[in-house]
Amino acid sequence: MTRVEPSSFWYPETTQQLKPVAPRRVRAVLAAVPEGDHESARQVLETRIAQHVPDGRLALAVTDNRYTMISVKREKGLFRLRLHHMFLLAEPEVVRAIGEYVARNDREASRLLGQFIDVHQRKIRRARRAHKPAAVTIETRGEVHDLQDLYDTLNERYFAGAIEARITWGQRLQPGGRRRPRNSIKMGSYSVEDRLIRIHPSLDRAFVPRLFVEWIVFHEMLHQKHDIPVVGGRRQFHTPGFLAEEATFEHFEIARRWEREHLDQLLSY
Ligand SMILES: [Zn+2]
Repeated sequence: MTRVEPSSFWYPETTQQLKPVAPRRVRAVLAAVPEGDHESARQVLETRIAQHVPDGRLALAVTDNRYTMISVKREKGLFRLRLHHMFLLAEPEVVRAIGEYVARNDREASRLLGQFIDVHQRKIRRARRAHKPAAVTIETRGEVHDLQDLYDTLNERYFAGAIEARITWGQRLQPGGRRRPRNSIKMGSYSVEDRLIRIHPSLDRAFVPRLFVEWIVFHEMLHQKHDIPVVGGRRQFHTPGFLAEEATFEHFEIARRWEREHLDQLLSY
């Protein structure tokens, strides 16, 4: 697989300058493409790119991945191309460059795409900053574990600080409420829209070791990094890539074993 990481991809000495798409046009196009339903726009782009891929069949997937803007895999005469949705707005010369990059790994095309990615990433970052997150009560400091401290440590160690999320303990047991056994427990969750990680307060107890809470937080952070493809008509939240990266957590095996041995205690909250 060819992975194009935007940071290693930018050549400042390039002479070809791409005009950024006018903001009004971006808004108009995005309004025409409802979020989560890029299917018709995807089909149009797939057809446009295919014209520049000689005798190659092309399957295009549009992603919201923050790390990989383009990836190409060749499979039995079929190019599997994944593109960030910023390319839905691409002008003809960019579409041609995508085709040349897919078909021949063309160096000049690669430069042009690098510029396009750079311009649009800045735009996306600005738009994200302008987006007001939903009002939620954030409670990071628990009785035993400090989630912000855990999160910051993990972000630095495993993600080079690239994860941008807020984190909070979930709703606590009401005063006077009684602990009761339950059949299942959702130890963590991640909301894509709010970029918010929630951790179950059952984990904020003295018998729960820090490395176990770390593992749960790490798992939720990975949900921001990995996209959620549709496989066999269903969203696949834990892709093979996700699971492989999850296993890089330093205390992965210990945490899993601890969970098996203490599940009854965790369920009792
Ligand atoms: Zn998950």
